[in-house]
Formats: sequence, structure tokens, C-alpha cells
Amino acid sequence: VTPEVKSFQVGNRVTMATSISCGKCNFCQLGQTNRCSQLTPISYDYPGAFAEFLAIPARGISGGFVVKVPNGLGEEACLAEPISCAVNAQTLAGVKSGDTVVVIGAGPMGAIHTQLARANGAEKIIVTQRSKARLTLAKNFGADAVIDVTTTEPVETVKRLTNGLGADVVIVTAPEASAQEQAFYMVKKGGMVNLFASLPKGSSTLQMDSRLIHYNEIFLSGASDSTAKHMEIALALLSKRLINPGAIITHRLLLTDFHRGIQLLKERKALKVLLKP
Ligand SMILES: [Zn+2]
Repeated sequence: VTPEVKSFQVGNRVTMATSISCGKCNFCQLGQTNRCSQLTPISYDYPGAFAEFLAIPARGISGGFVVKVPNGLGEEACLAEPISCAVNAQTLAGVKSGDTVVVIGAGPMGAIHTQLARANGAEKIIVTQRSKARLTLAKNFGADAVIDVTTTEPVETVKRLTNGLGADVVIVTAPEASAQEQAFYMVKKGGMVNLFASLPKGSSTLQMDSRLIHYNEIFLSGASDSTAKHMEIALALLSKRLINPGAIITHRLLLTDFHRGIQLLKERKALKVLLKP
């Protein structure tokens, strides 16, 4: 900690909103730092966090991107960053008490979205998933129904589970165009589709009938990154045990086992792998 830093002391446990913004533009002035066009994220513009130590650039501290980890919260505080991105998305998507929410994709972000939707008061949460390994993991998230899309037609099943209406909110965490297209058929009239996962460059064009959006009065939202405010909400959710890290962190390895952790993710045996420095 350099002498000019007054807000933190040696020994403070901290985490951060990892995309440091310019602090000057219209979006930054509004506190929407994730919308800044001059973003400099940790691990892109600065060395990343797969390391024993991470040097936080001065702009990260002066810009308010560093947040203290609440007492009583252990190493699972590392989940705050991905949770903060889901907080941003569900705020934009307006997930509220009593909602039926479909989460497409039961990967780590599907797990986080499921638990966050519950914390936001969703009454019925339906998860759809393709990979067998992850279907088993999905049962631990707390979803009310898990649809195996390899054996069950997901759109009709969602309709059946919602009295023919469709879901209030559909959150797409699977990075596939077909998953995004499907969302518009699962959502209720006047409902919200949130495209949480980005599609890979070159395969991000959708083939769909826009009449569906028009006549069903469907709302659409994106979601990208998060702010320090979202990080604070994420840490509070973890502190209050409204999100159970045990259902999301499936493996805890040493940093030296980095490659094994990546392999577990590739084989879809893991959701989040916690690496200990
Ligand atoms: Zn800016």
C-alpha cells in the first residue's frame, strides 16, 4: 500500500470490480463504469489474478474499484466478480418476486443466475442444459425443474410448466445462437429476454422471426461486466448466505494445479474451480 492510499491498510482483505474505467466520460459520470468505452480490465490491460500477488493500478483505487471483503466471508469471496455480472444482468432484466425464470445453460453462470434469481424472489426457476455431466450438477443449484434438452423439447416443456404462458424472464448463459433464438419462444408475452452470454465472434448472427418480438411485446436486454456497486451487492449476498458458494465452487486446487483445473472445466466436470495461491 503506497503512502498516498488512505482508504486501505496492510492486512485489509479486498477484491475489486476488475474493469477499470476512465472516470471522465458520460457513463463514468453516471456511475455506469462498465459502459465506459475506455475500459482497461485486469487480465487484459494489466496482469491477471492467476497469481500469488496482484498489483492493483492506482486508477483502480482512486476510481473506487476496490472493495473490502466483509468479515466472516472467506475465500469464497472470489465468487463476487462473476456474481456481480449476474447482479448487473438481473437488475437490467428486472427479475422480481414471484417471477418464473428460465436459465438456459447449467454452467457456472447458470448456477449463479439460478441462485441469484431465487435471492431476487423468483418463484419458479427452470434450468435447461445439454451436457449430461452438468445436468447432475444442476440439481444442486436449487432449480425447480431441470430440462435435459438432449431428450426433451425445451420450448414446449417450459410452456407446459408455465400453464402455457412462458417465463417472465429468460436468461441465456449458453454461448450459442440457437440458445438465444430459443429464448424468444420460451418467454411470456411482455416478458424479458436477457442475453447474458456473448456469442463467439463470427457465429453471433441470429435467425429468427422478428414478428415474435413485435406481437408478443418482448423486451430484450444485454449485460456486460459489472461495477463496484454490483460487487458490493454480490459480497452482501455471499455474506448473508443468499448465494451458496458450495453449489458453485466444485473444486479447490492449488495454483500449481492450474492446468488440472482448466482440464476439469473443459471436461465439464467442474463449475468453478477455486485456485489457492
Ligand atoms: Zn469512462
